[in-house]
Amino acid sequence: MEINLISDTVTKPTPAMLDVMFKAEVGDDVFKQDPTVNELERYTAKLFGKEAALFFPSGTMANQTAIKLHTQPADEVICDKWSHIFLYEGGGVAANSGVSCHLVDGDRGKITAQQVRNVINDPEFYHAPTTRLVSIENTTNKGGGACYELEELEKIKRVCQEHNLKFHLDGARLWNAMVAKNQHPRDFGNLFDTISVCLSKGLGAPVGSVLVGSAADIKKAIRIRKLFGGNMRQAGYLAAAGLYAIKNNVERLAQDHQRAKELGEVLVGKKWIASVAPVETNIVIFTLQQNIDEKMFVEKLKQKSILITSMGQGKLRMVTHLDYRGVMHDFVIDVLKRMEF
Ligand SMILES: *Cc1c(COP(=O)(O)O)cnc(C)c1O
Repeated sequence: MEINLISDTVTKPTPAMLDVMFKAEVGDDVFKQDPTVNELERYTAKLFGKEAALFFPSGTMANQTAIKLHTQPADEVICDKWSHIFLYEGGGVAANSGVSCHLVDGDRGKITAQQVRNVINDPEFYHAPTTRLVSIENTTNKGGGACYELEELEKIKRVCQEHNLKFHLDGARLWNAMVAKNQHPRDFGNLFDTISVCLSKGLGAPVGSVLVGSAADIKKAIRIRKLFGGNMRQAGYLAAAGLYAIKNNVERLAQDHQRAKELGEVLVGKKWIASVAPVETNIVIFTLQQNIDEKMFVEKLKQKSILITSMGQGKLRMVTHLDYRGVMHDFVIDVLKRMEF
C-alpha cells in the first residue's frame, strides 16, 4: 500500500467517476458542440453567479489566459511573492502577456488591501509600468493552504475599483477554502472579475480547470485559449468527470482538512520538529530540527511507503486528498508517533 501525500493531484478517478465519463455525451468542443463541456461551463458559471465559463486543460493555462485578457504588454500585475503565477507557471506572465509582477511580501501567501494600495503605480508617472491587475490565491499553495477572510478581499476589491484595476482569483483550491470557512461560490463571484478553479486537485477529476467571468471576458478568453493551443475536441469525457467532481466531492473535503489537522497535531508534539505551520485546510507544512537531514527524513518515510515532498528552504509538505483513506491515515499517524532520531 503506497501512501502518496505529495500532492492532492495524485488522485485517480473512482469507478463512479469513470462511469459518468464512459457515458458522457460528446461532440466537437472547438465548434462548441460538446454538450457535456457546455453543461460544465454553464453549471460552473451559474454556481459562481457569473455570465460565462470556459474549460481548460490546466490551471496554469486558465490563469495565464486571465492575465492576458486583463493586461497589455508592459503592464504589471500585483501578487504575493509566493504566487503560483509568479513561481510555478514557467515565467508565463512575461512570455505570454509581456507583463511583470509587482511582488508583495504577504503573510503565508496572503496580501492585504493596504499592501496593494502601497504598490500601485501612479498612472501619470510614465516611467513606471502601468498597474493593471491584482491576482490573489485562495487557498495559498506555498503558504500552506491558508485562507482569506472575505472582509479583506472586499477591501482589496474596493482598492481595485478606486484605481481601475482588474481582480483575478487563482482558485486552484478555492473549494477547500469555501469548505473550511463556510463560504459560497457567489461570495467570490461577486468580488472577482475572473476566477480559475481546478477540478483535478482536491475534487479528484483527472484533468481540467474552469475559468469564470463576464461574457465579454470569456469571449476574449476563447481566443486566447486558441492562441495557447488549449482547444480540445471531444473533451466532454473530461468535463463529465469535472461535473461529477463538483457535484459529489466538495463537501467531503472537510475530511481531508480534519486528517491534515490531525497530522499537524502529531507533528507538533515531536522533539525532532522545529515548526508546524497552522493547518487550515489540506496542506501541512513543517520544518525539522537542524540536526535532522531533510532528505534522510523523506527517505525514511519512503521506506514505509509514505511519500512526502520537500519544498526547499527546509520546508516539508504533506497534502491530504480523496485517495488518502482512513486506514492509510491511521498508519501514517502511527508511524509519525513512533518516529525517533
Ligand atoms: C496547481 C495550481 C495551479 C494550476 O496548476 P496546473 O498544474 O497547471 O493545473 C494554479 N495555482 C495554484 C495555486 C495551484 O496550486
